[in-house]
Amino acid sequence: MSDFKCTECGSTKVKTGKLSGYARITRLLASSNLIATFCGNCGHVDAFKVEKPRRF
Ligand SMILES: [Zn+2]
Repeated sequence: MSDFKCTECGSTKVKTGKLSGYARITRLLASSNLIATFCGNCGHVDAFKVEKPRRF
């Protein structure tokens, strides 16, 4: 992820975090956490990823 560049402030300081609680993606009986990639400077969220897409 070294090519990250924030579209809001131009910072390259990327961070990732896991969303939990209600911020889960569910489909039928499967569910997975979401991983957020965000700017470590201004907090702009660049992308969400499903943690375990092969469950679905
Ligand atoms: Zn930023």
